[in-house]
Amino acid sequence: MIARDLAVLWHPCTQMREHPDTLPLVPIARGEGAWLVGHDGRRYLDAVSSWWTNLFGHAEPRIAAAIARQAGQLEQVILAGFSHEPAVALAERLLALAPREPGRAPLSKVFYADNGSAGVEVALKMAFHWFRNRGQAQRTKFIALENGYHGETIGALAVGDIPLYRRVYAPLLAEAIFAPSPDAYLARDGESPVQYAERAADELRDILERHGHETCALILEPRVQCAGGMRMHDPVYLKRVRQLCDAHGVFLIADEIAVGFGRTGTRFACEQAGIQPDLMCLSKGLTGGFLPLAAVLATQAIYDGFLDESRERAFLHSHSYTGNPLACAAALQAQAIFDEDGILERNTRTAATMTSLAAELRDLPHIADVRQAGMILAFELTKNGDKATPFAAQSRVGLLAYRKALDLGVVLRPLGDILYWMPPYCVDDEQLRLLADTTRAAILHATQDAA
Ligand SMILES: *Cc1c(COP(=O)(O)O)cnc(C)c1O
Repeated sequence: MIARDLAVLWHPCTQMREHPDTLPLVPIARGEGAWLVGHDGRRYLDAVSSWWTNLFGHAEPRIAAAIARQAGQLEQVILAGFSHEPAVALAERLLALAPREPGRAPLSKVFYADNGSAGVEVALKMAFHWFRNRGQAQRTKFIALENGYHGETIGALAVGDIPLYRRVYAPLLAEAIFAPSPDAYLARDGESPVQYAERAADELRDILERHGHETCALILEPRVQCAGGMRMHDPVYLKRVRQLCDAHGVFLIADEIAVGFGRTGTRFACEQAGIQPDLMCLSKGLTGGFLPLAAVLATQAIYDGFLDESRERAFLHSHSYTGNPLACAAALQAQAIFDEDGILERNTRTAATMTSLAAELRDLPHIADVRQAGMILAFELTKNGDKATPFAAQSRVGLLAYRKALDLGVVLRPLGDILYWMPPYCVDDEQLRLLADTTRAAILHATQDAA
């Protein structure tokens, strides 16, 4: 199986030369709950929810059945000029659940795409095109945050700031304006996360004073910069951003692709700041982790800005599989499970268990930071366990920890030297205990070899 794979497949986010010697390649036969089961029968706890997509466990029977039902009825239809029940019902549902801010017109229209990056492209293009339709063609710029991530396509990459993904392609990318990240890990000694977030917001205020008139939108990941290393910020920053965007007539795009659907404790991360974005991107957990789908939620004002006699003023963006019925049926069932199983309440308890298990690891010598936002918990590893001494890149501490954890039956895929827990919501106490014990063993193993 591995030889056949390597003969024909080119894997994502992988230096293929590292397979299979440096980096094991693990064939998976099936999944059940929080477990992945290998071809050899070995079981792995999926502590990263299969790249943050899975919500309720693998092969969740209700979602599997919903997809099968839909497949027997209508698998796909062009969404230009045609409609179908799952697309409409899902849009109704998402809009009803979307963050609300008193006194602000609600998000009221849904545009579908088929993956997160494509959803980000949709939001960026909508913001730009809206101003153009208004005769404000000078608004061509986007503001994004340092250390942010919004996907891999050329437009999404342009507003991302992770050098590993971006640097090579920089000559191809539209220029974005990057504002300092409110990431609490960057706070100075003695500075609280709130104070640091306020300081980052002050810098954003200055940037908007200079560039507001030429900016169409600001894009950010609310609460947690996930691909940037699960770096977290205080919600006060989001409140400030909302005010600043309003003051400068700049749209606020909330990329909730990773943090949405209960990951940070609330259904959407924006709720923790009591703010409502003008555009909101959803994907990853949207279908419970079964099928690729993205949804971009927009305000009525944005939608209205495209109504015109001219076709060029319309938003002509399209993907062949826009609003695929199978994916929409999966997403509708996933939303139903939130209610049926009381997921958000359950997650509050699970997150508390994660907090206490992580506290047991806090004193390991190489841990510089333990941070948590709901169902996301991260350990930042450094040489001396302080922020000043990151490991050298070539020590590959994260990789060593990853391999050790895999040997112990846990998928703990790091981001550099940051290990994180982002388990499916069905994870139980026994599995969390395994996760914590494995994390301890993996950290001890990786840091001892790297020292
Ligand atoms: C994963 C991710 C994306 C991109 O989604 P894909 O489906 O992988 O293209 C965009 N934004 C954020 C915040 C993400 O975590």
